[in-house]
Amino acid sequence: MQGNINNFSKPKQWLGVFCGSYSGNDEDIHSLASTLGIAMAKRGIGLIYGGGGIGIMGTVADSVLTEGGYVIGVVPENLMETEMAHQSLSELIVVKSMHDRKQTMYKYSDAFCALPGGLGTLEEVFEAATWTKLGLHRKYKPVLLLDQKEFWDGLEKVLDEITSAGFIKPQDRAILNRVKTVEQVLSIFDKN
Ligand code: AMP
Repeated sequence: MQGNINNFSKPKQWLGVFCGSYSGNDEDIHSLASTLGIAMAKRGIGLIYGGGGIGIMGTVADSVLTEGGYVIGVVPENLMETEMAHQSLSELIVVKSMHDRKQTMYKYSDAFCALPGGLGTLEEVFEAATWTKLGLHRKYKPVLLLDQKEFWDGLEKVLDEITSAGFIKPQDRAILNRVKTVEQVLSIFDKN
């Protein structure tokens, strides 16, 4: 574990952020990721994430750190090099496996937010939501799907269709919330 590199006291509230290890084709997603990171730091909400220094993930982490916030990255030991772990996080937790990574992220997070991403992001979204459904987290943890544009429209439609088909209960569909602003994401911490 790296030593703390800033003087920011350890946050009491944590947002687990899932998002792309690639940069994608829309620069606006990076702006949104930066806005989220800056707003989290200003409100003293810690970031816990996969620990990568690249793509949208790198943008979110850099923004929190630049604003003086606290970031924990969780990286499996065999992926330290291939995943280009971020070199200047507040803490880097090295775990044994991908499962340990997700479990560690889930343990810290009070809620989850997904920015646009790919297969890894989708896997994390569905697993975190399934854990909420099954009551495996220590408390109810919502999953917020954040994008200002249409990125999550297709997934929303699929989830609604599966709910209509009777395979997702409406109360479980409600675990996944589509939001379009950073304020909507952070407002969930007002209730905690
Ligand atoms: P993807 O959406 O396929 O780019 O995968 C991104 C998600 O999977 C992130 O939320 C991470 O937790 C995890 N992940 C995948 N690739 C990396 C990476 N290079 N560094 C750290 N985490 C990663």
